Amino acid sequence: TEEMLRHTEKLVFAGQIAVGIAHEIRNPLTTVKGMLQLAEKDTRMRHYDLIMSELERMNLIVSEFLILGKPQVVHFLQERCLPILEEVLNLFEIEASLNGITLDFQNKRDHVIRCDRNQIKQVFMNILKNAVEAMPYGGSVQILLDTEGAYQLIRFADTGVGMTDDVLQRLGEPFHTTKPEGNGLGMMIVKKIIEAHKGRLVITSAVHEGTTVDIYLPIGQA
Ligand code: ADP
Ligand code: MG
Repeated sequence: TEEMLRHTEKLVFAGQIAVGIAHEIRNPLTTVKGMLQLAEKDTRMRHYDLIMSELERMNLIVSEFLILGKPQVVHFLQERCLPILEEVLNLFEIEASLNGITLDFQNKRDHVIRCDRNQIKQVFMNILKNAVEAMPYGGSVQILLDTEGAYQLIRFADTGVGMTDDVLQRLGEPFHTTKPEGNGLGMMIVKKIIEAHKGRLVITSAVHEGTTVDIYLPIGQA
C-alpha cells in the first residue's frame, strides 16, 4: 500500500543519514582513540579501559553502518556455497566449543550461487553469532545446505532462548536489541544483503526452544 511505501522511503532515508553520520564520526573517533592511547602512556589514567571499550563499541556501530554505505565494492561472482560456509564454520568452531555448543553440519546439496563472497560470509557470521549468544549454557546449531526449487537453502537452527513474537516482528529494525552489549544492527545487515542478492529470509522461533533462520539464495550457473 501507499503507506507502506512511504514507510519504506522513510527507512531508506534514515539509512542514508545514518551512513552519512557514521562516515563523519569515523575520523574524529579514530583521532580520539589514538590521543587517548598516547595520553595513557604519559599518565596512568583512571577508567582508561572502560573509556577504550566504549570507544570500541562506537567504532563497531560506525563500521557496521559503513558496510551498508559501500555498495560500490560489492563483487557478484558465481561461487560455490559450501566453501564459503565452511570458512565461517571453521572460524566459529573454537568459540562454539568454548561455549559448550556443537555445530552439526549437513550438506545435502550445495550449489553455485551468484553472490558477493564477503557479504555472504558476513551474513553467516552475524547469524551464527546470534545463535551462540542465544545459548549461554550451551546447546547446538544445526546447519543445513539443501535445494528448495530454484533456491539454495542455508539453514541455521539453534537450541537457544528463542524470541517472543514482538522481538521476532522487530528483527532487523536498527538498534532493536535485547542484549546489554548488543547494538541491534546484525540482522538489519543480514536483511539488506539477502535483499541485494534477490534472496529470501524466513525466521521461526519459539521461546526456550530455539530459532531457525532459513536463507534462500537463487541458484546460479555451474
Ligand atoms: P544484536 O545481536 O546486536 O542484539 P541483531 O540484529 O543481531 O542485534 O539481533 C537483534 C535481536 O534479535 C537480538 O537482540 C535478539 O533479541 C534477537 N535474536 C536474533 N537472533 C536470535 C537467535 N538466534 N536467538 C534468539 N534471539 C535472537
Ligand atoms: Mg547480533
